[in-house]
Amino acid sequence: MFAPKRHLYADRAVSGAYTYNRKALDQLLTDVRNGLIDVVVVEDLDRLSRDLGDLGRMFRTLESRNVELHAATRGKCGIMEVTMVGYLSMEQRLKVTTITTQGRWLAAADGRNPTQIPYGYRRSALGPGIIEEEPETAKIVRRIFDLADKGVSPGTIATLLNKEGVKSPKGRLWSRSCLVGESKRWLGILRNTKYAGLSIYGRIETRRDPDDGTVTMTVRHPSRWIICENGKIALVDPDQWFRVHGRLITTICTKVRGPGNRGEFVFKGVTFCTCGAPMYGSFLRKDRARILFCSAARRGGCNNKRTVTAHFMEREMLRIVRDVIAAPEASALFETEYLARRDHVTRKVVADRTRLESAIALLERKLERTFDEDHSRALSPDRISKLQTRLEKELGELELELQNLPDLEEMPKLPDGIVADFRDAVEKLIGRLPIEKVGSSDMVLFQALRAVVRRVVVKMKPNGGYVLKIDGHLAGLLGSSSTGVSPTRRLVRTCPPPGRGFMGDTDRRTMFETIADTGSYDVSEEDWLVAEPLLGTRRKDAIPQRTVLNAALFHARTRVPLNVLPPRYGTPHGISRAVRIVLRSGALQRTLEALGSRGSKAVDGLDHSVFERRLKDGRANRNVRRPVRGKTSASRVAPSRNRRRA
Ligand SMILES: [Zn+2]
Repeated sequence: MFAPKRHLYADRAVSGAYTYNRKALDQLLTDVRNGLIDVVVVEDLDRLSRDLGDLGRMFRTLESRNVELHAATRGKCGIMEVTMVGYLSMEQRLKVTTITTQGRWLAAADGRNPTQIPYGYRRSALGPGIIEEEPETAKIVRRIFDLADKGVSPGTIATLLNKEGVKSPKGRLWSRSCLVGESKRWLGILRNTKYAGLSIYGRIETRRDPDDGTVTMTVRHPSRWIICENGKIALVDPDQWFRVHGRLITTICTKVRGPGNRGEFVFKGVTFCTCGAPMYGSFLRKDRARILFCSAARRGGCNNKRTVTAHFMEREMLRIVRDVIAAPEASALFETEYLARRDHVTRKVVADRTRLESAIALLERKLERTFDEDHSRALSPDRISKLQTRLEKELGELELELQNLPDLEEMPKLPDGIVADFRDAVEKLIGRLPIEKVGSSDMVLFQALRAVVRRVVVKMKPNGGYVLKIDGHLAGLLGSSSTGVSPTRRLVRTCPPPGRGFMGDTDRRTMFETIADTGSYDVSEEDWLVAEPLLGTRRKDAIPQRTVLNAALFHARTRVPLNVLPPRYGTPHGISRAVRIVLRSGALQRTLEALGSRGSKAVDGLDHSVFERRLKDGRANRNVRRPVRGKTSASRVAPSRNRRRA
């Protein structure tokens, strides 16, 4: 039996009034153009489009490719059916819109509320569409108007209500836009005319572009508005309402709000405060460092006023991603799990397909037999037709099930090295923190990171440290296709207060300490024989001169400040003092020259400018006996003091 290949194209829950945003329709037309289709069957022509022009265009496309168009209700359709149905459905659409709009106006004129029930009201028992005051929320509406009338700004009112724990109409925190929304459409409580007992309809005219679906709104001339007065529903005095409205127009809404200063940060959108509100990023500091803060705290909905410097938190997070979530072991585990899951799904789909296909073949044979002569003789025509209907129905169900089997392409093969590449990208990103400019390639990585780290809750501690609670899984790298591979894992990481200064970052400190411990910049034994007499001797309990020389070389090679040299060279204070002494006396310079003339490896290509600069700045000449006070770095304070003395 000839079995044509069938394919179902369906745009679920999308209006047929327009042709944009209809992926299945686009796919169908593409397949038609590529000559993959002979016949298109639709439930009715208005499934394709309810617009005469669109239908006509589509019909021409089908016609030019010799594709037949059939409607389940009409059979084969020609240009006449297409034109008729197109015209009728357009007409009907217009009628429905007009009836709905007019119905609303009539209902409003009748004292009913045809739209959503506004905040402060509830449905009345008096009849459908009739609303009445809801005492609790109406009290809040009145308070909002009283405050606004006194000149309190909408933002302040929102904060006030949040602090009192009053919930907004949506059950969340109050915000400025809750009170004064978009000005053209008069959104927000302070702009709602119903509170003054006025229902206004037909103020806004919306038009939709038939090609891309963009909506434009224009305010109609007031003479065309439908205004229904219903003093019974007024919550505030109309005079007060107009006073507030006048203030909104003249003062509050004339303020041009500048571009937001919310900074892009790596984990934007997945970072939350312990109160559940998202954390925002902002350039609030003078040094242009981004800080993160609880978005609800600003509006009085959360007591957490602490902030976190974005790049400290980002560095911790990225390290966790690199070392835990995307670590080689985790990645191997994930790959195994993913492959197992993929295997399972594949096997199930293949088994289901085989089962369904054989069941369909069986039913088709049964159905065919009912048309046989022998068969028809054994049963009455009535029973045969009943049997055929039943078999056809079962067949249809099975075919639908076959079509709805998951597509194996939705679970792709794991791209080679996907996790390793991701880890490398994260590693590079860590090196770039704090990120100054976010490029488009960064955004791709950010998206991946936000998919891998699904949620971070930041709990800030009084000492400046914080606790990160992270929900994350590598499956995020594959998008939605890998859902169900395994549940996300939760990690808790306590971070100490971010360190400050040159060695504030632990990774950096570890790196320099490792370099120092290898001793690769040290002088050799032969060098030391030359250097020892030039440097002179020190007290027995002092840091040995050889260590002082090595420390000076390390300082010149790495530019690590003298007061934070690795512990290998002794206490930071002691070693920086010792180096400054040999520098001031000129012994260090003489030693380096002598070593240089010997062709020593230790001073090969050494940049002496770091010492020269110290001498010129007068840093090395200052009284080295002055104790270093508090946290202030001695070298940073010195120049200003010298200037003052001069
Ligand atoms: Zn919070």
